[in-house]
Amino acid sequence: MRIDVVTLFPNMFKGFLKESIVKRAQTKRLVTIKLHNLRDYTLDKHRKVDDRPFGGGPGMVLMVEPIVRAIEAIEKTIKGKAHKILFSPSGRVFSQARAKALAKRENLILLCGHYEGFDERIKELIDFEELSIGKYVLSGGEIPAAVVIDSVIRLVPNVLGNPNSAVEESFSKGDKIDFPNYTRPRIYKGIAVPEVLLSGNHKEINKWRNLRVNKKSACLK
Ligand code: SAH
Repeated sequence: MRIDVVTLFPNMFKGFLKESIVKRAQTKRLVTIKLHNLRDYTLDKHRKVDDRPFGGGPGMVLMVEPIVRAIEAIEKTIKGKAHKILFSPSGRVFSQARAKALAKRENLILLCGHYEGFDERIKELIDFEELSIGKYVLSGGEIPAAVVIDSVIRLVPNVLGNPNSAVEESFSKGDKIDFPNYTRPRIYKGIAVPEVLLSGNHKEINKWRNLRVNKKSACLK
């Protein structure tokens, strides 16, 4: 899988891409991630990417031209079709189900907004899926892009050491959440690990886990 990210702040990704599972996926060559600075696709000497909103109002709006140039340039370097995503608080709220579907794509292009967001015409010019990561406002699309990259990459085959890790996880089967886990020591500050987990009786362990999952899932509804 290849993921291209268009952003005004590529440095925001540097630490994130060099750690943990996201790093391992790249080292194993299962995923290639390319960062593109939107300013590199401007034509004027000030490398201008934003301007004041028509009709007045606060903040700056990202101009369509550099975005179109960036996406067109990136698409020329991609074999096949790319699925394009634009981040916006008013997009469809991202979910594990969406992550699963995106993990099947060969190429993703992620467009991060900033300031007041995009000139609306970008949506008419380019076929984007609009995604939000929740009903709150962030300063930019970089953290949403990191969220999508992380959640999608771990679903790409062979990225996780144990393929069952992703199957058993929260939200993998509808809204069902993961069961609670415990590890050593058996007792800490007087709190003991539930006895059944030490019993070695897998039928009883599964029964207990399912009960806990159903109870918690019901609470979240
Ligand atoms: N004025 C806009 C907010 C712009 S926030 C509004 O009220 O809708 C600036 C950029 O941050 C957006 O263009 C988007 O790319 C990103 N962003 C902010 N919050 C987000 C969220 N919850 N989900 C996805 N992207 C978000």
